[in-house]
Amino acid sequence: MRSMLTGDRQLIKELNVTAVITAIREHQPISRVGIAELTGLSKSTVTAITQLLLDADLVRETGSGNSRGGRRPTLLQLNPTARLVVGVKIAPQQVTAALISLTGQILNKEVEPLPDRVAEIVTTTDRLVRRVVNDAGFAFSPDRLLGVGVGLPGIVDPATGSSISSHFLHWQDVPIKRLLEERLGLSVYPENDANCFALGEYWYGAGRGASSLLGVTVGIGIGAGLILDGRIYRGPLFGAGEIGHMIVQRDGPGCACGRHGCLEAVAGDAAIVQYARLYKGEPAAYPGGREDVVRAAIAQDPHARHSLAEAGEWIGLGLANLVNTVSTDFIVVGGEAATQAGELLLDPIRSSLQRHVFPSLADRVRIVPAALGDEVWLIGATVLALQRFFRAPLAAAGTRARTRAQGGETGWMEQLGRVR
Ligand SMILES: [Zn+2]
Repeated sequence: MRSMLTGDRQLIKELNVTAVITAIREHQPISRVGIAELTGLSKSTVTAITQLLLDADLVRETGSGNSRGGRRPTLLQLNPTARLVVGVKIAPQQVTAALISLTGQILNKEVEPLPDRVAEIVTTTDRLVRRVVNDAGFAFSPDRLLGVGVGLPGIVDPATGSSISSHFLHWQDVPIKRLLEERLGLSVYPENDANCFALGEYWYGAGRGASSLLGVTVGIGIGAGLILDGRIYRGPLFGAGEIGHMIVQRDGPGCACGRHGCLEAVAGDAAIVQYARLYKGEPAAYPGGREDVVRAAIAQDPHARHSLAEAGEWIGLGLANLVNTVSTDFIVVGGEAATQAGELLLDPIRSSLQRHVFPSLADRVRIVPAALGDEVWLIGATVLALQRFFRAPLAAAGTRARTRAQGGETGWMEQLGRVR
């Protein structure tokens, strides 16, 4: 009984540290009084915890806030480079790596073409990750680097970190986490790219402050990431959000996945180009593909506009089915096609969803454009590593090493023992 109570107390202290650093992360710069108001913790608890975070150099004091009478309070903010993460995007054409701060700022970025074979992709990724860290002037050390988030198309097993299947990369059961960890000596977090998009918009973009959201990406493929109550939902088969392969038309056009009538086949880039050529009556029109179609639509070309409206109609129908299924009320739409087309695609998506969704839900679903642009993939890829860090920030490698050196294996938990 006694040890259980001790365990409970320790857990409460850990949760309090998490609450304090989360309040700083989300509302910085913020005063100790502000943290106490947000978290419901006593001012003395907040003061004790912020002192631990200051000692670990995870947090720094910065300037003074507005006074409500009396002394102006000192404000606190994260030390953005106290720890760093690397975000990687493996796409069908290229590999991109970015060094990213604790506050989601990209400090350095590198791109290389995607090689053919898995072994070469691992070598390229390893080289890029090391280069973005070293060229920015940081040591390549697990004390500083929290890990590497890797966004890639297809289905990823979150337990093993293997890519179960990716038809864009032609992968089947590729143990990408193990292969990269062996090379890098850092924790690697592979994740479906649409999930990375949803996580990025949820933490830093249009979804800030939302509890649940559906992040939809429209481009060559169509994908979605579903966040429910702050957690990414993958489902027991890990394929949740593969809405590009929701069948919306029985015996419809062929899809890259080998089946017919998938949403991606009637509303992805290839379909958008096909519709525009058909409406224009010129099979060779829009030689630059979807980018040409959207450019023409922006310049008032009626065939190109009609094509985007048709794609939007299908996407809205697919999203209506999804809203009816999971009852989500907040949808963020991004991806290359949606970013380029803006309201020319979003508007028809909204009106189609309104017409197809269960009537009593129609007025309660909000659809907004993504806020982060093309960097969302890299930033979102790092969220899982950051979530892990912010759950136990003082347990990170550097702090543990330092407290052990000061005497005592129990380290930071012992220090926390002094926190009420
Ligand atoms: Zn398909």
